[in-house]
Amino acid sequence: MRVVVIGAGVVGSAIAAGLTRRGAQVTVLEARTPGSGTTSTSVAWINANNKTPKAYFDLNHAAVWAHHQLAGGSGDWFFPTGNLEYAVGGEHRELLEQRVRRLIGMGYPVERVTAGRARALEPDLVPPPAGTEYVFFPVEAYVQPARLLGRLLGEARDRGATVKCGAEVTAIDTTAAGAKVTLTDGRTFVCDVVVTCAGRWTQGVAALAGVDIPMLDPAVSGKITNGFLVTTAPLPARLSRVLHTAGLNLRPDGGGRVLLQSLHLDDRADPATAVPGEVLDEIMGLLPHVLRATEGAAVERAVVGQRAMPGDGLTVAGFADAGRRVYTVATHSGVTLAPLLMEEVAGEVFGEESALLATFRPGRFADGTAGPAPTPARRPGQQ
Ligand SMILES: Cc1cc2nc3c(=O)[nH]c(=O)nc-3n(C[C@H](O)[C@H](O)[C@H](O)COP(=O)(O)OP(=O)(O)OC[C@H]3O[C@@H](n4cnc5c(N)ncnc54)[C@H](O)[C@@H]3O)c2cc1C
Repeated sequence: MRVVVIGAGVVGSAIAAGLTRRGAQVTVLEARTPGSGTTSTSVAWINANNKTPKAYFDLNHAAVWAHHQLAGGSGDWFFPTGNLEYAVGGEHRELLEQRVRRLIGMGYPVERVTAGRARALEPDLVPPPAGTEYVFFPVEAYVQPARLLGRLLGEARDRGATVKCGAEVTAIDTTAAGAKVTLTDGRTFVCDVVVTCAGRWTQGVAALAGVDIPMLDPAVSGKITNGFLVTTAPLPARLSRVLHTAGLNLRPDGGGRVLLQSLHLDDRADPATAVPGEVLDEIMGLLPHVLRATEGAAVERAVVGQRAMPGDGLTVAGFADAGRRVYTVATHSGVTLAPLLMEEVAGEVFGEESALLATFRPGRFADGTAGPAPTPARRPGQQ
């Protein structure tokens, strides 16, 4: 089977690899360079921690295990460190408690830990006040997105896929016999199936095939689609894992760097402007209160990330046209979901229905069964 995959973010790269495993002849068309979209501005925390409804939790939970399986205990992109979260009091503590009970009920690995165990996990943690609640999520992880892309595209290339950069798709024509994809420079690619993995550009790309997939507009500022990410210069502080606190989320970012995120500031994230100085000051000001040996840390990179968010906040995956020539995938949490989509989407392209994807079909927008747009209230603690 000849398949064109549009988009070489983490989702398209994974699906390209999955398709080549099944023997497809794959061409990946990427408008810019692999990973240059949302994949390069991600916390890349692998989790199903605060995902609702149940079908979406199940999808993410299966994906967490798919990451462990893909890495097989030795992947240089994969850091199976677990995630430590602590709540000092008030609303955070109550929400954490509810979440822990819900996750335990759904069979998700969760450990309540003592302050001593938390310090053993992260020795440079600034001790929070007595009475703080600590929870450890042992199967969660983080990845280095560029290395994961290398892993996925490498496998796809090894199995014969062609990856074309600077290849922006401007037309998709479907016929009973197949599909034809045209680029800005007039080059064309004929195939049996087109898989669109265009992330936050999905609405425009799907429309080329006459398919309507509503996406939240990533150009609009605000915390649903946009978020600040700040990377420090290398620091002499010990941080080994994903760490969540009320005001600051952290993870290691290679070579002693720390990636920082403050969800409560994301209302102010506007992709049209640089990260405001006062936001940077606030985020960097929080760091020494969470992690020792970080006073005076310098900022190496500060960006506004733009999420790929389908209209109802949930994954879209399925054939989008009656002739089954165009399969569309668009999702938030794409870094978590990628190794699962690799297998499930590739299977569906080859005619095997995925039970995990059954509730995420693109047709829900046309037949009116899609839920409402997500609100900021749905998101705290989510990625
Ligand atoms: C601040 C922030 C934090 C996040 N944290 C997490 C997290 O902790 N865990 C997690 O799982 N997820 C997280 N995410 C989400 C995750 O990063 C994304 O869901 C994922 O990167 C999306 O990957 P993608 O391949 O779908 O999209 P992208 O990486 O955007 O790739 C789409 C590709 O399609 C290409 N393209 C578009 N149009 C065309 C065209 N016409 N022709 C050819 N190519 C085209 C683009 O150039 C792009 O490279 C976060 C996102 C943000 C913004």
